Amino acid sequence: MAEIGTVYLVGAGPGDPGLITVKGLDALRRSDVVVYDRLAPAALLDNARDDAELISAAKASGTVALTQTEINELLVERALLGQNVCRLKGGDPFVFGRGGEEAVVLADAGVPFVVVPGITSAIGAASYAGIPVTHRGVASSVTVVTGSEFEKSSKSGANWYAIANTNGTIVILMGASRMGEIASELVTRGRSPNEPAAAVHRGTSPTQQTVVGTLSDIDSKVKLAGLGAPIAMIVGDVVNLRDTVRWFDNRPLFGKRVLVTRARSQASRLTSALMELGADVVECPAIKSVAVKHTGALDVSLRELGSHEWVAFASPNGVNQVFKRLNALGMDARAFHGCSIAAVGPATVNALEQQGIVADLTPDTYTAEGLVDKFRSAGLTPKSALVFKSDIGRETLPTGLRQLGAEVAEVAAYRTVLAEDSAYVAIRAFEEGIDVVTFTSSSTVKNLRRLLGGNVTAINKCVVACMGPVTASTAQSFGVRVNIIPEEQSILGLVSAIENHFRDS
Ligand code: SAH
Repeated sequence: MAEIGTVYLVGAGPGDPGLITVKGLDALRRSDVVVYDRLAPAALLDNARDDAELISAAKASGTVALTQTEINELLVERALLGQNVCRLKGGDPFVFGRGGEEAVVLADAGVPFVVVPGITSAIGAASYAGIPVTHRGVASSVTVVTGSEFEKSSKSGANWYAIANTNGTIVILMGASRMGEIASELVTRGRSPNEPAAAVHRGTSPTQQTVVGTLSDIDSKVKLAGLGAPIAMIVGDVVNLRDTVRWFDNRPLFGKRVLVTRARSQASRLTSALMELGADVVECPAIKSVAVKHTGALDVSLRELGSHEWVAFASPNGVNQVFKRLNALGMDARAFHGCSIAAVGPATVNALEQQGIVADLTPDTYTAEGLVDKFRSAGLTPKSALVFKSDIGRETLPTGLRQLGAEVAEVAAYRTVLAEDSAYVAIRAFEEGIDVVTFTSSSTVKNLRRLLGGNVTAINKCVVACMGPVTASTAQSFGVRVNIIPEEQSILGLVSAIENHFRDS
C-alpha cells in the first residue's frame, strides 16, 4: 500500500501573491495536487510543479462548485493515494475559511496534515487601505465577525450587542450584501451613527477599491461605487488614520493596467519598476530572442575575436547569445583577451558583468548614436571593431564606427522572432482593458500588431509609451498614436516618463 500523503492547509493571503508565507510557498511548490479556492490569488498557482494537478474547488466540473463534503472527500482520497496535497485558501485557513472543518475530517480519517496560517483579509485588506486595525489610544481591540449569518439566530451566532459595545475596531467579512442591515444593527445596539466605517473591495490586489464613510452612509456609498463581494468592512475610529497612513492605493500608477511587450527574458526590470509604482502589469511578450539558424559566421567571429581592437554589444540578448555560443564552442570570457569592450546601455553592461567582463565604454545616452558620440568625445579612433547585433539590428552603430575610420565587421548574434504563443494573452488583455501600452523596440511594435491580427485600433485606445524616437517612429508608421517618449532612453527613463504623464494629466 502506498504511504499516506500529507495535506497542507495553506493560507494564501488576501490577494497580493507576495503575502503567502515562506512555509506556505514551499508546500505549494512541492505538492502533487493543489486544491485552490476562488479567493486564493491565481498568480500563486504558477509556483506549483509543472506536473502538479490543479483542482479548483470553486469550479471543479464545469461551473458547479464542489460542496464542502466533496472537498473533504477529495483531500482524504488523494492523501490515501499517497499524494501530497496543498489546500490553498484565501487569507487564513482558519478564519472563516472552513479550514477547521477540513482539519477535523483529516484528523478523523487519520490523514496527516499541516496548517500553514496566512494573512487574513480582516487584517491585510485593512493594512493595504492604510487602516491599522488596532492603534494606541484609538482602538485596543479588534473583533472579526461574519456577516453571512446575520439573520440566523444560531447558537454560534454572533452577539451583536457585545460586538457593538467593545469600543474597539470591528471587521466584518462576508457582509457585502448586508452592509446596510449590519450598520443599522450596530447603531441600534449602541454604536454612534457617525462612527467611521470603510469598505475595502479586493484588498491587497491591484484592483483594490476603498470607500470611506460612517455607519449611517457606508452602505449607500458602497452601492453608489458599485462595489460587491469580496469586501472587508471596517468599523471604528481607526478608519480615520487612512488619511495619514494611506500608502498602497495612492501610488502614482495605482489602478493603471500596463502592457509590457518586451521579451520575457528582458521584461522583469520594467515589470518590477512599474509594479513598484502601483501599476497592474500584464506581461505579453511580443518578441523572443532565439539563436541564429546558421552559426557559421558567428563561430568564425568568436574564434577570431583577438583580431579586433574593439567589440561592441548592442543589447543584453547579444551578450547572452554570444556567451551561449562561446561556451558551446568550448571557450569562455578569455576569448575577449586583448579586446576593448563597448556596450550600448546599462542592461548590456550588466549582462557583460555576469560573464565577468567590465565594459570599457558606455554612452551617456543609451543609444547606438550615443555610443558613437562617446567614441568621438573620448577621442577614440578604433582601427577595427566587431559589432554583435540581432538579425534585424539597425546599421547605426556599424556605420558610425566606420565614419570614425574603423574597419567594421557585423555579426548577427541572435534572431528576434514573433512570440506567437502570446496572441491569446494580447487579445484577452485588451478585452479586459489596458491603460498603457509600452514598446521598448521597433520589433515589439511590429509584432504586437501582428499578434492583434494587424489592427492597431485597440492600441490607440490606450496611452502609448515608446522607449525612444526610433521605436516611436516605427509605431507612428503603423498608425499608432504615441503619447510618451522619455528623454532618457532607458527602462527607468521610460517608467518615470509614464509616471510624469499621469501626474500631469
Ligand atoms: N479565510 C479568509 C476569509 C474567507 S471568507 C480570510 O482569512 O481572509 C470570504 C470573505 O473574506 C469575503 O466575503 C470578504 O469579506 C473577505 N475577503 C477575502 N479576500 C478579501 C479581499 N481581498 N478583500 C476584501 N475582503 C476579502
